Amino acid sequence: MKAFFLGLLDWIYKKKCYFCRKSNESVKMCSKCYDSLEFLSYGKRLAIDGVSVYVAGVYEKNLQKLIRGLKYHNQRDLAFYQAKFMYEYWQNITDNTDYIVVPVPLHKDRQSKRRYNHMELVAQEFCRLSGNTLNTKLITRVKNTKPQYKLTPTERAENLHNAFKVNLSEMSNCGKILIIDDICTTGSTFAEMIKTFHAAGVTDITCFATTTPKL
Ligand SMILES: [Zn+2]
Repeated sequence: MKAFFLGLLDWIYKKKCYFCRKSNESVKMCSKCYDSLEFLSYGKRLAIDGVSVYVAGVYEKNLQKLIRGLKYHNQRDLAFYQAKFMYEYWQNITDNTDYIVVPVPLHKDRQSKRRYNHMELVAQEFCRLSGNTLNTKLITRVKNTKPQYKLTPTERAENLHNAFKVNLSEMSNCGKILIIDDICTTGSTFAEMIKTFHAAGVTDITCFATTTPKL
């Protein structure tokens, strides 16, 4: 009997919005909470080695909760909303089609611990919405790096040094690359991936992050 009630509570709980816990829309993120997400201005945010970097929003409020829920709390259904937010921003960018979408890869040890690469889930949904093509094999993370948020900008660059490797067997179907990540702080992850791609002769690259931390 107890198990039945716990199961029932679980079911009711799951029906509520993960953000406001109030809505009866029976979705993970209700329309009111989704509409509370704010876009940054449309256009290039910065450039790294001549590569344009776009950022859709600020890492705060519900956008922060969305990213953390997917990344750390196993809320895989949230990938759709993160992808939708990125897609809606991306539609306002002039050159937005015919990309090979590359999510920032996790090291295999980290991925087996977390059981999934959150950015791969976002990339899948983003490609489904935008019609771009997903490629998760083009570049891999060969070094199990420390989490970046604890490190200074110099340490971040050192931590990531030679962390990635381009798989040359995937190069034949390699056109315009769009690298996507969740948070762009100093841009060190993008910078290291760009360096690795450039060294492999891949030059047509654009970067796109869901968020940047609040200044
Ligand atoms: Zn809500």
